[in-house]
Amino acid sequence: MVDYHTHNVLCKHADGEIEAYILRAIDCGLKEIGCSDHSPMPNDFDAPHRMTVEQFSSVYKPTVLKLREKYKGKIAVKFALEGDFFPGTEEWVKNFNMQQPFDYVIGSVHYLGEWGFDNPIFVHKYEERDIDQTYELYYDHIKRSASAGGGHLFDILGHCDLVKKFGHRPTRNMEEVLREVFKVVKAADMAVEINTSGLRKPVKEIYPSEQILQIIHDYNIPLALGSDAHSPGDVGRDFNIARQLIEKYGGGKISVFTNRQRSEVRIT
Ligand code: ZN
Ligand code: FE
Ligand code: FE
Ligand code: ZN
Repeated sequence: MVDYHTHNVLCKHADGEIEAYILRAIDCGLKEIGCSDHSPMPNDFDAPHRMTVEQFSSVYKPTVLKLREKYKGKIAVKFALEGDFFPGTEEWVKNFNMQQPFDYVIGSVHYLGEWGFDNPIFVHKYEERDIDQTYELYYDHIKRSASAGGGHLFDILGHCDLVKKFGHRPTRNMEEVLREVFKVVKAADMAVEINTSGLRKPVKEIYPSEQILQIIHDYNIPLALGSDAHSPGDVGRDFNIARQLIEKYGGGKISVFTNRQRSEVRIT
């Protein structure tokens, strides 16, 4: 097993140094741990929830690369980021990601326009909008994130039904919309993340839902796996549940990445 989605103190809303996450992953018996903290963004975009470009260069990158050497033979440490899809920033993000020796980049949608819809501070906005339109807008962003930069901006689609985080549900079945979305994801040759953090949120459900996992299975889209740990104790959390879904919908295989090249491994 591997955990490809972890954060650390640099993003200002997670606890623990990078090394604490790695040590926890070793304790859990994981083969690989991906450091995938929130990416820096241009023009102070959402600065309170991420490292700066300066911190990326002076702290994040050298620390991850140093720890990779330190724990060689014990665990494979992957150098990664959780990037944001935000219309207008694609070129900046593409250039930034291309200039760095990442193993992979997760692409996540956390914003619908100015609305940080996964932030508990703004949860009241769900009530102020039509929920079906919110879902449609969200999946439109997911689709655009997959085709952004000619389909090469991101390697893994992160928590791809995050819009359900607080338990709001659309009033109609989204099957058709979802099939259109995952056609684009398939064409972009991305992996889709099973993210266990939803189980720790009000929705109490893994990302993505089994409805989406069935579509992913139908389209033969590869799976990836992450806990989205914002504290070292959450590394590898609920992976027994994820394991069953990987067997059921992914043929027991998950994606691993080196230098942004994907391969698949059988989980044990
Ligand atoms: Zn975060
Ligand atoms: Fe995220
Ligand atoms: Fe995350
Ligand atoms: Zn996340």
